[in-house]
Amino acid sequence: MERTIKHITRPEMKEILHVQSAVLKSLHDFMWNENLVQLMPVILAPFTDPLAHTVSESAIEYSGQKLQLTKSMILHKQLSMLRDDIHGIYVISPNVRLERGELSSSGRHLFEFSQVDIELKGASHTDFMRFMERLYLHMFSFVRSECRDSLKSLGREIELPSVPFPVYDSTELETEFGAEWEHLISMQETQPFWVTDHYREFYDKEDPITRKHINYDIIYPEGFGEGLSGAERETDYDVIIRKMKERKTDPTSYKSYLEIAKKGILRPTAGGGFGVERLVRYLTGKKQIQDVCMFPRVPGEDVVI
Ligand code: AMP
Ligand code: MG
Repeated sequence: MERTIKHITRPEMKEILHVQSAVLKSLHDFMWNENLVQLMPVILAPFTDPLAHTVSESAIEYSGQKLQLTKSMILHKQLSMLRDDIHGIYVISPNVRLERGELSSSGRHLFEFSQVDIELKGASHTDFMRFMERLYLHMFSFVRSECRDSLKSLGREIELPSVPFPVYDSTELETEFGAEWEHLISMQETQPFWVTDHYREFYDKEDPITRKHINYDIIYPEGFGEGLSGAERETDYDVIIRKMKERKTDPTSYKSYLEIAKKGILRPTAGGGFGVERLVRYLTGKKQIQDVCMFPRVPGEDVVI
């Protein structure tokens, strides 16, 4: 218990929360100016993000129905775009991902975190990439000017990234750096950058001819690693079904999502999501993600409060 009290009351927590508040204020201001509307998070639903990696199941039974705890809002934000009168949405949602205990020392994994999820109607991957670069510049500038004292006492200086961010292809990086490419290139770079074309979940669009994945990640420099993942979205029912089969995604819980997809009414969109804690960790320069959380949920560790 002493450790927990010390964690909550340590002086730098105030500075970190100040930076986090500035991130969220500048996010909301930017979205307001861009005419995006905010959704409230969904925490329980028959389906959630299948994720591209395995986590332990987190579901409850309520009134005879099995409901998943949200792993990300991807499918709900896609469905919210069925409306004609919304051109873009965002949501800040808790994501529960019961990650493997071995990830406790990664410095960047929690089993509950907050994700800012954004989706733009009719956008291409490059539209979304430019949108995100403008958002990051806006947030970084605001944090730099409004959190001068906090950053100083944390011993952190934030450089404004130049835009457009550099873009790398994941296959080329793997050829050059091997399996550990993400960490190695992140150590080498000095500003956030894009890495494109990753094999991922069924909802990330695939080019029908080249079979390249029309998706992207933002990687933070200095070894901080992945900060955002996103894509243009798959809208074609037959392609979605084929990709679910290829990925061995059990379609049972996605019944209502698939019924909607079958009607052919899913709209072309592009979007992405970034973890709030990972961004705050990068901006404050903290080694461990748990250092930026008041109540960290570290994989494999007991939850005290
Ligand atoms: P994903 O779509 O799975 O890449 O998740 C979107 C973003 O959420 C990632 O780019 C990270 O910034 C963040 N994120 C994903 N998993 C975790 C985790 N276990 N702990 C903290 N942040 C995470
Ligand atoms: Mg990712």
